Amino acid sequence: MSRFSCVASPFSHSRTVFFKVGARQKRAKRVVPVFLPFSGCPMQCVFCAQDKQTGSSAPAPIPAILEDAEARLSVMPSCSESGSRELAFYGGTFTALPAEKRSVCLDFLRRMQDADLITHARCSTRPDALSPAILAELKQYDITLIELGIQSFDSEALRTSRRGYDGELALDACRRIVDAGFELGIQLLPGMPGTSPDIFLQDVETALSLSPSCLRFYPCLVPDGTVLARWFREGRYQPWSLDDTVRTLGDALHRAWKKDVPVIRLAVAPEPLFDAAVLAGPRHPALGALIQAEALLLSAREAVFELGLPPQALLLPQRCQGYIYGDRGALKTRWADLGLGPERLYFMDMDVAELRG
Ligand code: SF4
Repeated sequence: MSRFSCVASPFSHSRTVFFKVGARQKRAKRVVPVFLPFSGCPMQCVFCAQDKQTGSSAPAPIPAILEDAEARLSVMPSCSESGSRELAFYGGTFTALPAEKRSVCLDFLRRMQDADLITHARCSTRPDALSPAILAELKQYDITLIELGIQSFDSEALRTSRRGYDGELALDACRRIVDAGFELGIQLLPGMPGTSPDIFLQDVETALSLSPSCLRFYPCLVPDGTVLARWFREGRYQPWSLDDTVRTLGDALHRAWKKDVPVIRLAVAPEPLFDAAVLAGPRHPALGALIQAEALLLSAREAVFELGLPPQALLLPQRCQGYIYGDRGALKTRWADLGLGPERLYFMDMDVAELRG
């Protein structure tokens, strides 16, 4: 179906516009994460507190991390009995691990595949750590998806944030992953030093043009113990407000829905050690729901414009019911301004929204 499709209706209303509002939650492939905080990283990036994000102030050595993963896997039923299961090497820069450490991880993956405990695998890395030899090695071990911590495609923002590569290299890395037959995941960091809402939305457009399998948005926070925390204390960095974050990421999510690209993260996952270390930044316990609410409203607004008639009814997938009005009903007035008061909204077992006029 195209982004919008308008049909003459056989019912009393005269026109219908269909629009996408994200996909129904599929029965997710079960993911077994293996966190390797800072492993292989060329430096600690200015905003990164991955040790705290993984809930461990002193990351364990890799053999101990793999032992723990094996203990978790060994009590699970085989994949033949229970369906597909994915091993995910998260954290750090997997493809820049020293060769012997990477081999230990990949050999562990192979053992788990051979034992029928894992069917799929993914890893996350930086765009400047992807040689052809590394890509060939990941293929050999049946890694199917590579997530790139791109953060931004804007060279000036990357320079301000001291990422060590430019936008051209980031684009090239994404293309090489797709050309080599991997699925591509792109992680962006809205609010990173040097970015603005306009730059982030341009980054989203660039990311969507690269046919990614998934996107992740991590609104930039200020964790203590980072260079960013120092810049914040010195007045050199100001995080985005919660309001700007919700509006901008809502717009970004609306764009991803139109292209059918899943956004699998809209906020940093809660973790007590990390939360306690955050000095500033757009935090809210339901940030993902607030962003979805904004995206839904923008999608409906576009559909009303497309309809060109006073709307009579909006039929929405049931999953939208939990978040439609945002924080304590804050969006009710904006919905009413569209001519879509509560009496015109219906939540149904459906996948694509339907606006009738
Ligand atoms: S942002 Fe990525 S590359 Fe930078 S320190 Fe954190 S994990 Fe390593």
